[in-house]
Amino acid sequence: MKRTKIVATLGPSSASPDVIAALAAAGMDVARINVSHGTADQHERLAVWVREAARVAGRPLALMFDTRGPEVRVGDLPEPVELRTGEEVLLGSKGIPVTYGRLAADVPVGARLLLDGGRITLVVEGKDGAGLRCRVKQGGRLLSRKRVSVPGIRLHLPPLPPEDRESLRLARELGVEFVALSFVQHPRDVEEARAQAGEGPWIIAKVETAAAVDHMPEIVAVADGVMVARGDLGVELDLYRIPLIQRRLVDLANSHAKPVVVATQMLESMVTSPVPTRAEVADVAAAVWDGADGVMLSEETAVGRFPVEAVRAMANACRAAESGEVGIRVPGLAPELVGKVPAAIAQAACHIAAEIRAAGILCATMSGWTARLVASFRPFLPVIAATPLPETARRLSLIWGVIPLVIEPQDSPNALAEAAVAAARAAGVVSPGERLVFTAGLPFWQAGTTNLVQVLEVPAA
Ligand code: PEP
Repeated sequence: MKRTKIVATLGPSSASPDVIAALAAAGMDVARINVSHGTADQHERLAVWVREAARVAGRPLALMFDTRGPEVRVGDLPEPVELRTGEEVLLGSKGIPVTYGRLAADVPVGARLLLDGGRITLVVEGKDGAGLRCRVKQGGRLLSRKRVSVPGIRLHLPPLPPEDRESLRLARELGVEFVALSFVQHPRDVEEARAQAGEGPWIIAKVETAAAVDHMPEIVAVADGVMVARGDLGVELDLYRIPLIQRRLVDLANSHAKPVVVATQMLESMVTSPVPTRAEVADVAAAVWDGADGVMLSEETAVGRFPVEAVRAMANACRAAESGEVGIRVPGLAPELVGKVPAAIAQAACHIAAEIRAAGILCATMSGWTARLVASFRPFLPVIAATPLPETARRLSLIWGVIPLVIEPQDSPNALAEAAVAAARAAGVVSPGERLVFTAGLPFWQAGTTNLVQVLEVPAA
C-alpha cells in the first residue's frame, strides 16, 4: 500500500480516457489541470474523464485546477530584442512594454527583475516617468509575452485575473476539490480567492514567491493546504535554499494538519526516459521523509513520453521510502490545536493502535478533519476514513496515509461504527478477527467534534 499521495498533471500526453485510467491504476490520487493552458471545454472534458476513471478504479480521485495567478508579462514586441549584459534599458511604455502600468510605482531602485524565468536579469537603477531605467546584469534574447518577476516586491495585482475567475466558476460547477492558487504573495490573496471561490474548492496556496516565503506561517493558517512550488521558487530565490523552505513549509502544514504537496522536477528526466535517475528517487524519498502529503508530477505526465511509467516510478519511490526503516518527521501539532479534544483523541487513537497492534485506525468523518488529525501523526498503520459525503472522500485522496471509503448515512453511533467496519472489510483493508481503533465525533452530523475512541473487532461478513 502506498501512503504518500500522487498528484499528476494532465496535458497533451495524458489527455485521453485510456491514459487517465492507466494513471489512476498506476497510483494517481489527484489529477491536476493547469488552467493557464487550454480552453474551458478541454478542462471540462478532462474533468469528466477523471470522474469516469475514479468510477472504474472504484476509489475516489480528486481534481485540482491550478490557476494562472497574477502576473506581469512583457508586452508585444515587433521583433525579439537582444539585451546585452552591461547595457541600460528602459522598461515601460517608452521602452520595452510590460503589462503592468504600476511597475515604476511599485518597484524601488535597486530591485532585481527576472525576465523569462530568470534567463535575463535586470537591476533597477532609476525611474523615468512611468518607466524603469535598468542595467542588464544577465543578457539574452527577449521575446514578447515573457514573464517578468520582481522577487520580494509586493505588486498590487489581484490574486485572480479574469481568466482565473472564469476557471473558478467552472471549478465550482464541476465540483473540483482543490484550486491551487499561483503566485500568492500574501495571506490576503488566499482570503480573496476563497471569497471568490465560495463554498466548494479548497484553496491550496502555492508558495513560489519570495513574498510568500516571508509569510509562510500566516499563509498556512488561512489556506486549506499548501504546495512547495519549487519551479518558480527556484527563479525567485536562491536555488540552494529550496530544501530548507520545503522542510519549513512541510512542518508548518503538518502541524496544522493541512495537506502539503511537494512539486516540480521530481522525476524530470522521465519526460524523455522510461526510468528515473537515482537523484530523483532520492528527492521523492526526501519529500516523503520530510512529511509531504503528496508529491507532484508536472511535465512528466503532461507532456512527457512516459506518463504512466512516471506515476508507477513515483509510487515505487514512495513505497520504498515508507517502508518504516526511516522515520517520517512529525513536527507536532500547532499550539492552537494542542490541548483540544480532537487532537488529543487522534493522538490517543494512534497510541492505542500501535500498542494493541491494531490492523488500522478507522475514522468516521464528515469533514475529513478527524482523519487529517490522525494522519498528521503519521501512524505506521493504515488510516481508514469512512464518510457519507463523497466530496469528503475525494478530498481525502490528498491526505497522507488515508484510505477514503464512502458509506451510507447512519442514524446511531453503533450503526455508524458497524457501517464503517463493514466498508473497511469490504474494501479488503481489514479481515475478520482483526482489531481496529475507531474514532468519530458525536453528534456525527456536526463537523469538527472528534470526541470518541473505541477498540472494535472486525466481525465475519
Ligand atoms: C512550480 O512553479 O513549481 C509550480 C508548481 O507551478 P507551475 O508548474 O504552475 O509553474
